[in-house]
Amino acid sequence: MAYVISDDCIACGACADGCPVSAISEGDGKYVIDANTCVDCGACAGTCPVGAPHEG
Ligand code: SF4
Ligand code: SF4
Repeated sequence: MAYVISDDCIACGACADGCPVSAISEGDGKYVIDANTCVDCGACAGTCPVGAPHEG
């Protein structure tokens, strides 16, 4: 499983900076997680100010 970012994302970029495997990149209006790279550490969920990343 990988984490996914919901539409609540405000594209602040904080999660991308904290991802240990650089799985998060800027998408169309929000940030997105590469499911093949994510190691399910949960750091992005702890960093996000709006709680957008969640377990997929
Ligand atoms: Fe990166 Fe961890 Fe979030 Fe996966 S759960 S996108 S590895 S910070
Ligand atoms: Fe979006 Fe949250 Fe990541 Fe900011 S920290 S880019 S609001 S998912």
